[in-house]
This record gives sequence, C-alpha cells and structure tokens, in this order.
Amino acid sequence: MPPSTIAVIGGGITGLSSAFHLSRRFPQASIILLEKSSRDGGWIRSRRVEVKDSHGNKAEILLEAGPRSLRPNSKAILELTNLLHLTSSIITTPKSSKAAKDRFLHIPGRPGLTRLPSSPLSLLSTPYASSILVPSILREPIRRANRPKDADDESVSSLLARRFGHKLERIFGSALVHGIYAADARALSVKATFPILLEAEERGRGSIVLGMLKAGSKESDLQQYDVGDVQSLVNDAAVFSFVDGLGTIPKSLREYLDKSEKVTVRTNAVVTSLRPKLNAEGIEVDLANGETLSASHVVSAIPLDRLEDLLPSHGALPHLTTNPMSSVTVVNIVFPPSKTPIHPPGFGYLIPRPVGGYSRRGTGFLGTVFDSCSLGAQDTGAPGFTKLTVMLGGPYEITPAHTKIENVLAQLQHHLSPIHHRIGGARLPWPVYFEAMEHNECIPLPLVGHVRRMEELRAALKTGPWKGKLEVIGASVDGVSVGDCVEAARKVGRDW
Ligand SMILES: Cc1cc2nc3c(=O)[nH]c(=O)nc-3n(C[C@H](O)[C@H](O)[C@H](O)COP(=O)(O)OP(=O)(O)OC[C@H]3O[C@@H](n4cnc5c(N)ncnc54)[C@H](O)[C@@H]3O)c2cc1C
Repeated sequence: MPPSTIAVIGGGITGLSSAFHLSRRFPQASIILLEKSSRDGGWIRSRRVEVKDSHGNKAEILLEAGPRSLRPNSKAILELTNLLHLTSSIITTPKSSKAAKDRFLHIPGRPGLTRLPSSPLSLLSTPYASSILVPSILREPIRRANRPKDADDESVSSLLARRFGHKLERIFGSALVHGIYAADARALSVKATFPILLEAEERGRGSIVLGMLKAGSKESDLQQYDVGDVQSLVNDAAVFSFVDGLGTIPKSLREYLDKSEKVTVRTNAVVTSLRPKLNAEGIEVDLANGETLSASHVVSAIPLDRLEDLLPSHGALPHLTTNPMSSVTVVNIVFPPSKTPIHPPGFGYLIPRPVGGYSRRGTGFLGTVFDSCSLGAQDTGAPGFTKLTVMLGGPYEITPAHTKIENVLAQLQHHLSPIHHRIGGARLPWPVYFEAMEHNECIPLPLVGHVRRMEELRAALKTGPWKGKLEVIGASVDGVSVGDCVEAARKVGRDW
C-alpha cells in the first residue's frame, strides 16, 4: 500500500529534502515535517553581517556557521539545485584557482604554513610535503599486500599507516580527517568514510596506488538525475556554494514545501516518542505538547542517539548509540582591509594530530578556511575585507579560554606569521567581526564496523514491529556531507 500519511522527523537538510522528494514521489500522501527548534535547516546556518572599518567603509559579509561548500560530485545536490531553480545564484571555486589548488598544513614544530603539492609539477615548490609524500607513494606498490585476513573494515589511520607508513598517516591522514570530521583518524571507519581507498586496494591486489591507476572510467549514472544545466556550470569547479550561502537550499526547500498543499512544516514541534501500532498498520508519533499524530509511514532524519530516546522497548533498534558525535567550535572572523594580506591565497590550512596525541594543553585548533578566497563573491559593499573561519575542538577538549579572541588571534598570528614577518613583522589587525559558536555534538563519527551495523539496523527496520514503515536516514547513517544527506533523502521510501 502506498503511504497515506508520512511524518518526517527533523528539519535539517535531510528532513527537508526527504519531504521534498517524498512529496514528488507520493503526491497523494499527506506529509508533515516536525522540527523541534524554532528554525529549520539544522546545522546549515548562513547569515549576513554588516562590518565597518576605521575609515567608515562598510561591507556586508556572508558568514557560515556550519557547512560552507558543496562538492560537485554529488549528483543529488546538483539535481536539487536544478529542481529548486537555484542555478543563477551558484558561485563556483574553479579548479584552476589558487583557492582550489593552494592548500596548506600548519605542522606543529615547523614555522608557518607548509604548502601541499597540487600536481606533479608542483612537487619541486613543495619540498617538505613532497619529501614525505613522494617516497611513501613510490614505495607503496612494492609493499606486500597486508590487509588483515577477514577484516572487512579498519580505521582510516590503520589503512594509511599499513600502506603508506606512519608519518604520512599522522601528518596528512590525520589532518584530512580533522578537516572533514573533526575527529581522530585512529577511530574512524575507513569503509564508511573513505571506501574509495578500500576499493582501490582491492583492485590493485593490495596496492592502493596501483588500484587508483587502474580505476577505469566509471559508468556515469548522471542520466538518473535531473541535473539540467547545473552539471555544465560546475564542471570546472572544485567546490561551489550560492550567493546567499548554503542557507539558500533549506530556504528554497521550505518555500517549495510551504506552497505544496499536501505538506505541512511545523517548527517548535518536539517529537517525544514513536510507537508502532500493535494491532493495525502505522506508527503513532507523540509530541511534547501532548498531541499524538498517526502516520502510515515515518522518516527519522535526526541523529541516531536522539532516535533511541524516542523508541519504546517493543520497538528497540540495534546500534543507535554506538557512534559518538564530535563537537566543534566554529569561529567566524572578518578582518578590515589591510596593506599586508592576512594570509596567502588558497583554500586554508589544516593541523595534523600532534606527535604525542591530543593533549589537554593543546591549542584545540583543527584548521582555518580562507573563505574570502573561495567565496568572496558572496560579499557586497566596500572591497578588501578578509573573512576566514577557524575550527576548534573535535578530539581536543575546548575550554572558554581557547575561544577567547586574544587566544585565537595569537594562534592565527603564529600560523600565518611568516607572511607578516616578511613584510616588516606586521601583526594581524584587530578584527571588525568575531563570533565563536559552540556546536555541541554536531558531526557523527562512524566507528569501525559502521557499515555492517547500519545493514543490521536496516534489516531490523524491515522486520519486527516497524514492518518497513519506519526509515532511518541522515548524517549519522549514510555519510555526513550535505550531498550524502540529500542522496539518502532522494532514496527514502523507494520500497514503500
Ligand atoms: C561545522 C560544520 C561544518 C560542516 N561543513 C560541511 C561542508 O562544508 N560541506 C558538507 O557537505 N557538509 C558539511 N558539514 C556536514 C553537514 O552540514 C551535516 O552533516 C548536515 O547538515 C546534517 O544534516 P541532517 O539533516 O542530517 O542533520 P541536522 O542538521 O542535525 O538536522 C536534524 C534536525 O532534527 C531536529 N531534531 C532532533 N531531534 C528532534 C526531535 N525529537 N523532534 C523534532 N526534531 C528533532 C534538530 O533540531 C535538527 O534541526 C558540516 C557540519 C558542521 C557541523
């Protein structure tokens, strides 16, 4: 029986895009989206702030508190962009730009920023990084195959160390994982986060490098997605966003849903429990205000550990509390126009795991994104202001002292110092805008074995009291990127 009433729990990007796709697939069904807070969008939060320098020059700067850019390889995002008619507000960061090519590390113990190679030609101009990368990569194919027998998963760190050596793992692998997951690479499942590495190892009969070289042209599944001309707009883009930031997507989804007669979006609607009906088909959804809604089908688009709190004992599901969540402090900073550039042109820099691990006395810095380089086109008014975003936390314990403006500026000065020393020891100017936001438990961390556990969760949903009427998706199930969330939302309810 096709669904008659669908309740979507959670109004982040997963819930909003689920309601969007479900309303197109089941136009006869009534859909209600329930979001506990007063706004939808979840971790996506774009805003404009007005800034002024000491000469009275004003600008409006677009800042992101959560995600800031999308990768064009997510066909589900390209499709959503097309279906919501957002093409004209796309902003791309071309692959050939410095904002895409020039990426850095700040390696504790080494001054300033260490440039990463972006092509074979750039190996000569990036001597330190190349001195680790080149021998590790050249040696990898001649290392014997060493995947542990019967292990279908391991940590990102374990795979990189086993194939490329501990130094590459610690310096490059840990930094990459800090940038995407704000997490310790030694805990994260490689199968869930970088399956491409395991697949390459398989293809290369033990060698990731040989497997990558063998990667034949993959059959494009583009025709299954209604991407219109969005694909051609982002063909040469490393990443993209929108003039008004990523908040454009939830805002447009909300506008679309509000216009649909069969869809209701309710904010300040806290779901407190879900109960499979015992002697009939369907699910009862209890709200904090005492209401009970009856749905033929439910989509959970909230973190797994929050779902656990909603389930009755006769509807218990496995593995909902296995994975921890990472907490991150995001610091948006805007500097006034200055003669000395605040940072070198580029995407930004990441900081690897310290040699001794994550000490409590560490700076807490995971990395910094140079937003003006890639997304400066979002800003209006007087030119020359520099926006950047510092990320702190994850595996580090953060105290209020870490996020004080003086401390953040002192660290930035230390990381960016060579550029300032070169130009007469200039210090960073005092920012015209500074905001530190603590995002508690914002990124789910799939631990080793996550993929198998999620298969078991899906199997349990199909059988037992839920009888396939409850689907569980979102960042903590299918991948944390906005693209992963929308891809899962696009597939939800396919078996109904
Ligand atoms: C700082 C940061 C930077 C990031 N950067 C990027 C990036 O650049 N690119 C990228 O692709 N991804 C990025 N991500 C990841 C991506 O933004 C998230 O994984 C994604 O937005 C999660 O969306 P979601 O809808 O699954 O979950 P959420 O956004 O967490 O939404 C879940 C919603 O459910 C609601 N809810 C919870 N419990 C209940 C309840 N009981 N009843 C009703 N509602 C409930 C919550 O209020 C929330 O609104 C970033 C994430 C963070 C935190």
